[in-house]
Amino acid sequence: MEFHDLAAQYAALKPEIDAQIARVIHKGHYILGEQVEELEQKLAAYVGRKHCVSCANGTDALVLLLMAWNVGPGDAVFTSDFTFFASAGCAPVVGATPVPVDIDPRTFNLSPQALEAAIEQVLREGKLRPRVILAVDIFGQPADYPQLEAIAQKYNMLLLEDAAQGFGGRIGPKRAGSFGHAATTSFFPAKPLGCYGDGGALFTDDDSEADLLRSLRSQGRSPEDKYDNRLIGMNSRLDTLQAGILLPKLEAFERYELAALDKVARQYTELLQGLVETPILLENYHSAWAQYSILVENAAQRSALQKHLKALGIPTMIYYPRGIHQQTAFADRHFEDALFPHTCSITQRVLALPMHPYLQEADVEKVAESIRAFLQTQF
Ligand SMILES: *Cc1c(COP(=O)(O)O)cnc(C)c1O
Repeated sequence: MEFHDLAAQYAALKPEIDAQIARVIHKGHYILGEQVEELEQKLAAYVGRKHCVSCANGTDALVLLLMAWNVGPGDAVFTSDFTFFASAGCAPVVGATPVPVDIDPRTFNLSPQALEAAIEQVLREGKLRPRVILAVDIFGQPADYPQLEAIAQKYNMLLLEDAAQGFGGRIGPKRAGSFGHAATTSFFPAKPLGCYGDGGALFTDDDSEADLLRSLRSQGRSPEDKYDNRLIGMNSRLDTLQAGILLPKLEAFERYELAALDKVARQYTELLQGLVETPILLENYHSAWAQYSILVENAAQRSALQKHLKALGIPTMIYYPRGIHQQTAFADRHFEDALFPHTCSITQRVLALPMHPYLQEADVEKVAESIRAFLQTQF
């Protein structure tokens, strides 16, 4: 059994993917070729934003947006404590200060209450200017945007949606990638929509912001004269090959993969009910199921369960074993665990199960049955 099964996906999409790769090689336009433009248009339409600007990866997408917003020294970027490192690591790249915030224990997403308390604390200290709320759609479920938007408005801050895991998720009809002032995503192979290497994208409704991002991803060059560089940007573009690979994958994602993920999640939740804590979706929220993560009682039970499953050929992962506030890179900030009670609890108890659109019903049954058998031997 595979945790993510990219080989099964390739087997299903081989003719289309191979044809796209051949097309790119035949044309020889490897950087920002025609497939990149086609993909950007399709992604913008899917997400429901006016513009999509692709780039080299999801981390660069975050940095490019902070650059476009002129975020820098003295600015505070508030983000979830329970996320992939890049959601916090992007801020120091532009000279800004990340401020990790504890999570909602139901969804594992940024807690609006804890966020407001953290903003008030930064205002009281008077050293940093609250500039950006960087919300993450953890494991595929969109963050609480109705409340986060109200907080952004109240404190006159910019709201950034990190939809690296959320792409495909939605609140009602509104899709991930369309929340906040702008959004980013990643096409790292294991993300809901992944390519065969690194890739990323930004989403915005603002025409001049989209132009600025296009300039910043190409060394800050001017749109009229490519050898006149008006800004300091970076080299962060999406390869045409990756765009070609993403086109048929996006089609499959829309046509059946997302529905297949939903079906696997429903089956897991039904079979695991009463055994472990299963993911909680808020009303009207739809996950992209970047991960299907359960909660067990404690770290000791988790490692025993993980070992038990591994022996049966069932791979599991721990996303994430530590909070942002516990990262060595931020050791000089001396964050106290007591400020992050929910992250501290979840990081000890969370376990991600095999999850992908090609997972068979029998596989899900085997995973659930193996968890049940393990828990029965516990007492
Ligand atoms: C993967 C990920 C990123 C970074 O994306 P890369 O393409 O790997 O640079 C950023 N934020 C979150 C929440 C992610 O999961």
